[in-house]
Amino acid sequence: MSSTLVTGIGELTTNDPELGRLADAALVFTDRVEWVGPASSAPAADTRIDVEGRAVLPGWVDSHTHLVFAGDRTAEFEARMAGQAYAAGGIAVTVGATREASDDELAANLRRLVGEAVAQGTTTIETKTGYGLTVEDEVRSARIAADVADEVTFLGAHLVPPGADADEYVSLVVGGMLDAVAPHVRWADVFCERGAFDADQSRAVLEAARAKGLGLRVHGNQLGEGPGVGLAVELGAASVDHCTYLSAADVDALAHSSTVATLLPACDLSTRQSLPPARRLLDAGATVALASNCNPGSSYTTSMAYCITTAVLQMHLTIEEAVTAATLSGAKALHRTDVGHLSPGARADVHVLDAPSTTHLAYRPGVPLTHAVWRAGVRQR
Ligand SMILES: [Zn+2]
Repeated sequence: MSSTLVTGIGELTTNDPELGRLADAALVFTDRVEWVGPASSAPAADTRIDVEGRAVLPGWVDSHTHLVFAGDRTAEFEARMAGQAYAAGGIAVTVGATREASDDELAANLRRLVGEAVAQGTTTIETKTGYGLTVEDEVRSARIAADVADEVTFLGAHLVPPGADADEYVSLVVGGMLDAVAPHVRWADVFCERGAFDADQSRAVLEAARAKGLGLRVHGNQLGEGPGVGLAVELGAASVDHCTYLSAADVDALAHSSTVATLLPACDLSTRQSLPPARRLLDAGATVALASNCNPGSSYTTSMAYCITTAVLQMHLTIEEAVTAATLSGAKALHRTDVGHLSPGARADVHVLDAPSTTHLAYRPGVPLTHAVWRAGVRQR
């Protein structure tokens, strides 16, 4: 693969502990990062691009999305904005539409949304099943997701299908459904929440998935305090996602574990919840990631920049903390060491902002600032 030299970098965020953040820098990459350093000592390359003082950083790692779906929930959103409370049950509407859609329709919608994310600087994306909720429909969702997404998660335990018995459904999830879906996915997840799955059911799902060799993720503590965080930490999950309502014990458990607290602020705003206690988590020493939670019900955005803006303006993160949360810590939440940073050897996921520094992501809220994107060294925009 031919090499590209990027010069004229006003501010280079590497997320490399040795290199840190560099001014007046240059970067050489093929499909991997080959060299990082001061512009004055940059080696030659096949192609040279001058970014004229713009900021360069690793592409976003969006570690939590639900993109295999059909249909639309505008009416539910409108009702919520008019004052109706959010509840887990709205998922059933998307399940109905997803089951009726063809493979081609699901794949086209998934590709549309991933394309939208990449155009805004996302270069690694996780997505989940969870709108099928039958063996056949969950396998289909996993297969379609695996064609497009970097990481795929089995979320058969998203909701008990309407009319089904909860314990019987859990038996299916940990039995035949897990057996059928496991070959297509790396991760398993459970919605541990009032109105979805309780602590015992969630534990059964996670233990069965772990026995199958899958990595664990948990949806927890979205609508109130609950057992999700404790269970995730106890079982060594890579990540527990939402973390909107945390007890002191939850914060302490996360701070003393390798489980990443993945915060989904666009979802909390769209469901009119409080924002998660990001400052408390970081101050206690927990690893915090930011993700979009893009899905048609509770968070219909692919914009990681929006999550960063919110984290800085409303959750009191520094811009550096927010950028780290959306890159390096997102990679940690997926157990990926090859993305989320620009150290030599990393995948060449390069995001150029139309701004001199990452500060502009919060300083200029809502303004599209993505100037150029490479994923594994291939120009995306
Ligand atoms: Zn989710």
